[in-house]
Amino acid sequence: MENDVNLDELDLKRILKLYPEYDYAFGPYVHNQTGRKIIRLATKAIRTIPYPRALMEIHLGRRLEKDETVDHIDGNFNNNHLSNLQLLSQSEHSKMDNRRVLYISPIICPMCGTEFTPSNKRINGKKDYDLKRAKRKTPFFCSRKCVGKYGKKLQTDPNFQRIEQQTLTIIYGKLKDLNKLENNEP
Ligand SMILES: [Zn+2]
Repeated sequence: MENDVNLDELDLKRILKLYPEYDYAFGPYVHNQTGRKIIRLATKAIRTIPYPRALMEIHLGRRLEKDETVDHIDGNFNNNHLSNLQLLSQSEHSKMDNRRVLYISPIICPMCGTEFTPSNKRINGKKDYDLKRAKRKTPFFCSRKCVGKYGKKLQTDPNFQRIEQQTLTIIYGKLKDLNKLENNEP
């Protein structure tokens, strides 16, 4: 990931200092099931901890308390820049997770005309994502290919006008509201 940072040897030693019951620290690795980065701690037994957690713990110079979690401010869990990580209590974090994207309106790609729905993963930066996007007024495209085409056009064709951003309808809510939504209840 372009935004990502890597732990060097020294950082692995520092995280190990915070987990004195382990002898080795490896990583970061990408966890098979979640796609998130983890640090693996090992003695005879193996423990894994989330990579952003390790970065935060190194930053703070201490292990997180039971009640503390690390949140990605922009919702992109691969953007592990320290500036994108914030310490939250479990309850704050789960409150925020209640504001999930339940619905995104399909829109038309301005470069190729394909109807598509911007992916939840990209939108799930919650409020931040569309605010930033709206500020920059960048349109949504169906694919990286179309993003590239647009950028190239802007650079090379002096008659090419900037395309206005599509209006996106995003419904946020709690997961239980999803059922209501699907049943067309008010
Ligand atoms: Zn397209």
